[in-house]
Amino acid sequence: MLHRALKQYFGFDSFKEGQQEVIERVLNNEDTLGILPTGSGKSLCYQLPTYINEKATLIISPLISLMDDQVAQLKANGEYRVSYIHSGMDEKERYYNIKALKSSRFIFLSPEFILQPNNIKLIQHLNFGLIVLDEAHCLTEWGYDFRPHYALVGKITKHFNNTTILALTATAPPTLEHDLNYILSTQFSLVRTSMNRPNISLSHKNLASDEEKIDWLLKFIERSGSTIIYVSSKKKCYELAKSIYQKGYLTGIYHGDMSYQERQTVQEQFINNTISIIVATSAFGMGVNKPDVRTIIHFHLPTSPSNYLQEIGRAGRDGKYSQAISLYQPDDTSLLETLLFTDAIKEEDIKLYKYGQLLDEYKLNILDTLSSHYRLDQLVSIFKQAYLRKKEGFHRILGYKDLTTCRRVYLLNYFNEGLEEEFSRCCDNDSELPSLKITNKKKVKRKQNYKEKLEQLFNTNK
Ligand code: ADP
Ligand code: MG
Repeated sequence: MLHRALKQYFGFDSFKEGQQEVIERVLNNEDTLGILPTGSGKSLCYQLPTYINEKATLIISPLISLMDDQVAQLKANGEYRVSYIHSGMDEKERYYNIKALKSSRFIFLSPEFILQPNNIKLIQHLNFGLIVLDEAHCLTEWGYDFRPHYALVGKITKHFNNTTILALTATAPPTLEHDLNYILSTQFSLVRTSMNRPNISLSHKNLASDEEKIDWLLKFIERSGSTIIYVSSKKKCYELAKSIYQKGYLTGIYHGDMSYQERQTVQEQFINNTISIIVATSAFGMGVNKPDVRTIIHFHLPTSPSNYLQEIGRAGRDGKYSQAISLYQPDDTSLLETLLFTDAIKEEDIKLYKYGQLLDEYKLNILDTLSSHYRLDQLVSIFKQAYLRKKEGFHRILGYKDLTTCRRVYLLNYFNEGLEEEFSRCCDNDSELPSLKITNKKKVKRKQNYKEKLEQLFNTNK
């Protein structure tokens, strides 16, 4: 029956690994956590049950680009009963989508939007068959101190009491299952396949300074194919992109403070190969459905093994050989520490908050949001755990740079997974890795027209 539906609605003959198991549990009304790697077809895990149930599905989605991508995919599949609302839209589009909510099969919204007091009214009367938490790792990575509304998604699901919940992600930090059960007050049934991506090789370079890193990088990108370079700050984004541009390559920049339009443009240029190199912060990547990214370079180490797997997972969706390389220089440890712990909420902050003495506006906002749902003593323990988790991720990722054993085994062990088979092109500690031979095109110098030539010769403008 399921295979017939798969063929009928999507034209596929068989399920990809993990899909059928997830779908069966969802149809059996079990709250399910599906941990399936990038490109494994997670969207279908909620789309097929939606068609079979003949009821609408609410998809709680963390990012605009992710919503855009999924909506575009559904429409490409002929499904127009779709609505979504996000801050990148103009009034007209927003109005149109709000009106379309009633008749939609698929509704994409962010937790922040739903949790605004008037917005829940827009959807609370709808009879959902399924609620999806897409990219569910965000709940653990961002849940408490970056996007506190993620820790409140339990408030949303409570409105739709008996509705089945499906959480989907490619990388599950070790505490994800626990966090999900806690935040959503339920017991998730787990379906997981290996997080290993065998077509992505792993290597790492310890260098002496940022200058050395840049020298290495400029040489490396000559033949790295479609490449994402991850950096940990906006400032570094601009600096690196400038060096790459001066070397003659077209390059794009992507970070969270750019406007929606700017981000859209760069992302499209990257996807359609107008530019082959993009320098980005971790804001880039989710919802970027590009099959042929060949190289991921981490100019700075990410904050945890889980973020690392998430980010390198954007390479090689087409299954072809791809490479992930991270760089490190001694100053990076303190950079990482600052990034992870400067804004972290501590027990003292919560005490100050209790007595109305907390001045830090950023922390104040977070605690205001969270205390609408959690008691302060719960928050103390939540933030203690969040701190320990960050610390663990931090140590593990620092361990990665000094490894002399297999990098893949080390990363997989973090997720309590081992490696069953050995294969070639695994990591730089195991074997000689092949170098890619995909030359990145340099800028083409535009020919001057005769008027420009004359101007240059005689400086006629001056
Ligand atoms: P993920 O969210 O896991 O990264 P997507 O849901 O974006 O992956 O799906 C990746 C691609 O796989 C899509 O192009 C989708 O159409 C395709 N796909 C999904 N399920 C199947 C299937 N059973 N057979 C073949 N292709 C599939
Ligand atoms: Mg997906």
